[in-house]
Amino acid sequence: MIIRYIIINLFIILLLISCQSNNETNDSSKYTVVVTTNIIENTILNIVDTNYVNVFPLMKEGVDPHLYKATRKDLELLNQADIIFYNGLHLEGKLAEVLDKLSRQKKVVALADVLDKEKLIQVGEGIYDPHIWFDVVLWKEVTQYARNTLNENNIPTSKKNYISYLDQLDSTNNWINKRITNFPSKKRILITSHDAFSYLGRAYGIEVNALLGISTVAEYGIKDINNLVDYIIENKVRSIFAETSVSSKSLEAIVAACQTRGHEVQLVSGLYSDALGKKDTKEGTYIGMLESNINKIVNSLN
Ligand SMILES: [Zn+2]
Repeated sequence: MIIRYIIINLFIILLLISCQSNNETNDSSKYTVVVTTNIIENTILNIVDTNYVNVFPLMKEGVDPHLYKATRKDLELLNQADIIFYNGLHLEGKLAEVLDKLSRQKKVVALADVLDKEKLIQVGEGIYDPHIWFDVVLWKEVTQYARNTLNENNIPTSKKNYISYLDQLDSTNNWINKRITNFPSKKRILITSHDAFSYLGRAYGIEVNALLGISTVAEYGIKDINNLVDYIIENKVRSIFAETSVSSKSLEAIVAACQTRGHEVQLVSGLYSDALGKKDTKEGTYIGMLESNINKIVNSLN
């Protein structure tokens, strides 16, 4: 009986050890940077020296940050972090309390804090649109802020990668400007589920409209549907866009409502708003995501 007890206990201990070694956070020789969205993850990966630093996102592809709540595993990860980055401006609305508590113990950085308020899109009294990554110039500023903060906190960075990345951001910004400029302004109307593209619209001259406001937490009513349908018909819009991190159901209702009024509109899927694509794909990078979105928008509206 005793031997059996010892064997079972040994087995449990071995199991725990093997679980721990499989745990991706267990590499104690490296610094741990924890971030909220995979957009921030990709940015930080282009700055840090990955020989010495691990970057862990809480949210992967297809995850909506407005609704995301921390899991137990997230809390463990956040507790192990040497530094934490999040977007801010209430993008991660349901993580606010957790991040606030952690900020009393360690460095917790809201990247949007670096931007002057007058550069932000204000949507209400003291409320700003959080989707700042859709203006590459603003996101470059955020990237520079992230790098300075990492340096100040002695997290190893790669100067070579960082300099090259800033160049790539400039090229991407120029590429988007060209791609949009060559596209007739009358056709530049981007309609999505939630209002995530106002910075893209302001920076590159695209009119945007959405069923929901800047957060997916809000709900929509019949009046919102009717208003959007009116807008689509008035402006002869032929394509509307479903986002990878938001249900497309509401937009399907819009397509059907347009149809009953004799207006054909197609629903284009796969637009990235608040999350990048799968890791190790082109759309799993910030720049690749932007290219994919812009090509999709221009090709579908043309
Ligand atoms: Zn959003």
